Amino acid sequence: MNVVDALLRTPFSQLPLEQKLEVQRLGPYQPKDCSLEQSHYGGKHRRTFCAETWYKKHEWLCYSEDKIALFCFYCLLFATTRDSRWCKFGFRDLKHLSQRARDHQSSMEHLDNAVKYRTIGNVNIAAQLDEGRAFSIRRHNQNVEKNRHVLGRLIDVLKFIGCHELSLRGHDERAGSSNRGVFLDMVEYTASLDTVLRDHLDAATVSKGTSKDIQNDLLDSMYKIYLQHLALEIENCQFLSIQSDETTDITCVSQLAVIFRFVKDGKPTERFHSFVPIVDRTACGISAVLKEVLQPYNAKSKLIAQTYDGAAVMSRLFVLQDQ
Ligand SMILES: [Zn+2]
Repeated sequence: MNVVDALLRTPFSQLPLEQKLEVQRLGPYQPKDCSLEQSHYGGKHRRTFCAETWYKKHEWLCYSEDKIALFCFYCLLFATTRDSRWCKFGFRDLKHLSQRARDHQSSMEHLDNAVKYRTIGNVNIAAQLDEGRAFSIRRHNQNVEKNRHVLGRLIDVLKFIGCHELSLRGHDERAGSSNRGVFLDMVEYTASLDTVLRDHLDAATVSKGTSKDIQNDLLDSMYKIYLQHLALEIENCQFLSIQSDETTDITCVSQLAVIFRFVKDGKPTERFHSFVPIVDRTACGISAVLKEVLQPYNAKSKLIAQTYDGAAVMSRLFVLQDQ
């Protein structure tokens, strides 16, 4: 009675209530042996439907042996017409199953039908609304959890690359390039070990989160969090030392590298603060820049040492302590 093809022949709405309740009791038709598969690259690669995993992941999935396709049990019963793949023709695209199933699962039609299914024979409107809302919140939370997981992986990749002082970008980042740069190749490698990230990369249509803008945004966000931690460490330390030297970046722009040193948990600790561009390279100019760096930390009474390369010409920096 709950077989997909029988339900396609006889609309669920036309069944008497006893039969409707029986269909609900039997639940989605989920045979373990499914012959659904998809070939890629001219038949060299075959993708098969792993029934047990998918049924566990999406309890609403059901299988039609006649059509060799997947359906949504809830939408099949309540004849949703907007997304006919899941309730009329069946879904066969295994490559995009993960994303399409998630999209469908969070669609309003599906959520409405899930509520209708669970409340067959029950006319308590308040309970229906509550359940629909709870269902929608659950879906939302699952999406948030997945997005956080993907973001966490991208941040892990950035941290790894930063630790090893490698450049993020490649000269040729197009798909098919033998060297797409450390970031993209590292994300691909991580995705080969992480199915959630793999699904995201395969299915994302709007943003995969791997563009150079996103890389820079993530780095900026990580740096802001780092500065917050640094501020706490400086607040808790007894004495502070500042170390600075001028350096030139790859575009020949002169900038000042600023480093803090302090004692934390009984151990000497060194923390990079920033690269600050310098316009005025005189002692007074550099002194002003360093005072600006120190200003948010209220470290006037803690600053006990300053270290500079070429200190002889910078001797006027004593103003730092005086002011
Ligand atoms: Zn559905």
